[in-house]
Amino acid sequence: MKQAYGKSQASLRVWFWRAARFFRTRARELRMIVKALLFTGHPVLVHVIPMRRCNLACTYCNEFDDVSNPVPLEEMKKRLDHLAAMGTSIITISGGEPLLHPQLDEIIGHIRHHGMIAGMITNGFLLTRERIERLNAAGLEHLQISIDNTVPDEVSKKSLKTLDQKLVLLGNFAYFQVNINSVLGSGVKDPEDALRIAHRAVDLGLTSTVGIIHDHNGQFKPLGGREIEIFEEIMNLGKRSFSRFNGFQHRVARGQEHDWRCRAGSRYLYICEDGLVHWCSQQRGYPGTPLAEYTREMREREYRTEKGCAPGCTVSCVQQVGILDNWRAPQTLQPVAAPVAGAGLVNIAREPTPQESGAGKT
Ligand code: SF4
Ligand code: SF4
Repeated sequence: MKQAYGKSQASLRVWFWRAARFFRTRARELRMIVKALLFTGHPVLVHVIPMRRCNLACTYCNEFDDVSNPVPLEEMKKRLDHLAAMGTSIITISGGEPLLHPQLDEIIGHIRHHGMIAGMITNGFLLTRERIERLNAAGLEHLQISIDNTVPDEVSKKSLKTLDQKLVLLGNFAYFQVNINSVLGSGVKDPEDALRIAHRAVDLGLTSTVGIIHDHNGQFKPLGGREIEIFEEIMNLGKRSFSRFNGFQHRVARGQEHDWRCRAGSRYLYICEDGLVHWCSQQRGYPGTPLAEYTREMREREYRTEKGCAPGCTVSCVQQVGILDNWRAPQTLQPVAAPVAGAGLVNIAREPTPQESGAGKT
């Protein structure tokens, strides 16, 4: 009896703090949108990489290694200070696997200390109740896990089977919003998996989204009839997610190119583990400038620079940021920066292959 009372008290505490964080984050997101509509000189969303190493090795992924060390905390703080000085609204920590970074909580705390919204993309394998409570305490506001299948296979271990207990823990103890992303498209063995994953997420009180991957020639391949149905059903399930505003994804699902203005390098930045600014995870090497030397003028130039990869782009987070500015400032400039020599980066001259498309990246 006493135990049951203690349990319900704990659930009530989680419910209260989750609701409090939800409304606080929504109010901050609303402020972020108003600021982005009024002013164009600051980054809206920045992905930072404190840890390139990963504890998994998904065969499609080009965003990890198994050797690198964590970026030192003081260096991460300097980068975050710099991004805060630019007026950045949202920081999403990505990898590799960020939970491998020994001072991840301090990094999240530093983002919040600057008043920026703190999110993270993880494969979820290292989550425990204790780790989730530490993320609560650090002030994390969003977390995303991408699940590729219902049972692990040779391509990906990120399956519902291996991660279900982690999702239950998140459903029970996380104060922050948790989104589960599933994937459809070429290379996905059973499209019904995406639906099972999305329904499980929603049953646990989490949100769900769906990503689409390229075919084997790096081109769009329209989804089949049943896949389209699944896609639309998951988009409808994702009512609490901003992805429902993303009309691009509906066109990608049907293999259609889209007409939009990619503001990567300006409103969206990707900061690699070496502290260099890149357009996005799939166009690393452009512009490849150290963050400390990345000036307002450079951001303004990128704002007006047309990206040749935009019509076939599947990077949905940059497209969502693009919505804020698609109606203004036509892009009339061409890229000037050269790729960083010898960095083994993704080549802009061609479409990314499915392995490079990153659609299933955590
Ligand atoms: S791949 Fe997409 S997000 Fe990246 S630079 Fe090209 S258009 Fe922008
Ligand atoms: S997709 Fe995520 S979990 Fe898989 S290897 Fe890449 S970084 Fe690691």
